[in-house]
Amino acid sequence: MAGERLRAAAEPGFVARFGGDEFSVLLPTANLKRIEEIGAAIIRALSQPFEIDARIVRIGASVGAAIYPDDAADDAPESLIKAADMALYGAKAAGRGAMKFFAEEMAHAVRRRRQLGEELRKAVARGEMSLVYQPIVDIADESVTAVEALLRWTHPEFGAVGPGEFVPVAEENATIVEIGDFVLRQACRDALSWPDSVRVAVNLSALQFERGDLVATVTAALAESGLPAYRLELEITETILICNHETVLTTLNRLHGLGVHVALDDFGTGYSSLSYLNDFAFDKVKVDQSFVRAIGAPDNAKAASIIRAVNAIGRDLRMGVVVEGIETQDQLSAIQALGVRGAQGYFFSRPVPAADIGVYLLKRMAERARRAGAPRHRAEAG
Ligand code: C2E
Ligand code: MG
Ligand code: MG
Repeated sequence: MAGERLRAAAEPGFVARFGGDEFSVLLPTANLKRIEEIGAAIIRALSQPFEIDARIVRIGASVGAAIYPDDAADDAPESLIKAADMALYGAKAAGRGAMKFFAEEMAHAVRRRRQLGEELRKAVARGEMSLVYQPIVDIADESVTAVEALLRWTHPEFGAVGPGEFVPVAEENATIVEIGDFVLRQACRDALSWPDSVRVAVNLSALQFERGDLVATVTAALAESGLPAYRLELEITETILICNHETVLTTLNRLHGLGVHVALDDFGTGYSSLSYLNDFAFDKVKVDQSFVRAIGAPDNAKAASIIRAVNAIGRDLRMGVVVEGIETQDQLSAIQALGVRGAQGYFFSRPVPAADIGVYLLKRMAERARRAGAPRHRAEAG
């Protein structure tokens, strides 16, 4: 059915299936406007629902286009196809249902991604990966409840590469499994020197649920470090729940069985299905930082309502609610007024190296003790 629609929309193009869910269309034109129209028609056609055995099925499409001879490195057909493939990659990165023409930057981006991918294979062994830590604060009593471990990569040649750039590459070539293993072990080890009331939060990728044995890895990280399970919190995003729903739920329940906490990260972006909250007893929900940004915008009513509603759900379901990305006193006051207790962001601290977070935690505890009127010597010992 998809093929029929594609053929009709791509008229007068020649349509071929490349494998999996990839198709190619050869058009006898170099007219940009014409190509754009056909691309849009293809996306429209494939975005209409399909009826299969009385069930409604929805798919979508992204389109990448390359033009001969401008975009081809040489006369080999493969070169044009490769350029179209890079454009497709760019279209997918731009979001669902987009179309992109090949651009020279795309070739640079692909080259860099390939290089980073190669270098990621050696990064852990070479000691290039490290963790920085950012506190998560209970604004009601100003205590630090947890500290999130965030991965940093310093490459000898490329310098500092941000996780926003390299984590997707590591997910693509599966090096995230080994890297994630390193993160778990290192985070548990570092957390051991913090006060007992402070948990360490570790981000997980979908691939760690699919490859390798996550429960065994977590068990080993806890055993090796001696960190009690209740002090470890695993942050997952909903994309992990979309694929392999049942197996992921089984794994999450086994992790819960160990006593580990599980948090739903970046809530409110993507699909944000409330059914995820119904399927699994998350200990915490982290509201994506885009909401607190929106509170600062002129029309702030919607973002505030959404935060208030998520907070109410959290209270009913006995889940902690944390708002990410608090940068200013105003933002802190705003979420406080909405009844939120958990907050994370530059306002409290930027992510800092392990040694510094230890000092930060001690300082916060001493301040709190002083405010509570505890004897000075106890505060300093704390
Ligand atoms: P995340 O888990 O949502 O982490 C929060 C991100 O927000 C961090 O970015 C943090 O530095 C940033 N952030 C915290 N407070 C503020 C603030 O007040 N303002 C602004 N503008 N940003 C703030 P970072 O460290 O660049 O990490 C980005 C993402 O990379 C993380 O998002 C997470 O999804 C991923 N990531 C980081 N470390 C790991 C890891 O060890 N494993 C996996 N799988 N993913 C990781
Ligand atoms: Mg996180
Ligand atoms: Mg987040």
